[in-house]
Amino acid sequence: MSALLEVHELTVGYGAAPVLHDVSLTVDAGQIVAVLGANGAGKTTLLRTLSGQLKSEAGRITLDDQDLRGVKVERMVRHGIAHVPEGRGVVTELTVDENLRLGGLWRKQKPKLDGIYDLFPALAQRRSHLGHQLSGGERQMLAIGRALVAEPRLLLLDEPSLGLAPKITAQIMALLRDLRDRTGLAVLLVEQNVRSALSVADQGLVLSLGRVVTRNDAAALAGDADLRHVYLGF
Ligand code: ATP
Repeated sequence: MSALLEVHELTVGYGAAPVLHDVSLTVDAGQIVAVLGANGAGKTTLLRTLSGQLKSEAGRITLDDQDLRGVKVERMVRHGIAHVPEGRGVVTELTVDENLRLGGLWRKQKPKLDGIYDLFPALAQRRSHLGHQLSGGERQMLAIGRALVAEPRLLLLDEPSLGLAPKITAQIMALLRDLRDRTGLAVLLVEQNVRSALSVADQGLVLSLGRVVTRNDAAALAGDADLRHVYLGF
């Protein structure tokens, strides 16, 4: 069986020298893969390339064997890739309901918000609240909910724990696990919070200076003291 997402020798830059060099990885359906690495390693660049915001200089991206290199953001959503950016991208002047509807913009079908409100009861109680009235945790849930409205097969999640209390981070990780188990959603999870990420991930890979330096089962990575010390800082 081939992987859901296959990335082969991807090279990406911002005009000058490349930031990502020959990055290869796979994500299977129903798998959570954590992307770890220090600040500046290229994690956000990787997600932005996979969501179609950045163009790669070389390499191949396929989803279910379909070539996606060079496909634009709105088309990526139709292909089944949804991106929750770092900082969440919630529109603070719009309501919860309006933000969620944005997630369905590129899909032809009417957005199914009921399922999202079932997943996030806290959002259901705040449908008409504006984005800026939400807590950090609620904004993160809204950002994830908005991505799920597009009914993706692969969710790209950039630093969901940023600025959140450990309890809220744990809730978000539990939600990802639940979605994976119930729906087969695949997740590529970028995290600075290595422990949280490896607690929920099936596999992890470590990026350093734009290259994949290792890839292994999450449990093996969490137990690798040298690797933790050199690349992950704990
Ligand atoms: P962080 O955790 O700090 O977000 P990261 O691993 O996500 O780090 P990236 O944000 O992908 O790393 O950045 C990788 C490299 O690319 C860095 O050296 C950064 O300075 C550079 N970079 C990122 N965005 C741009 C940009 N818009 N223009 C030029 N260089 C950029």
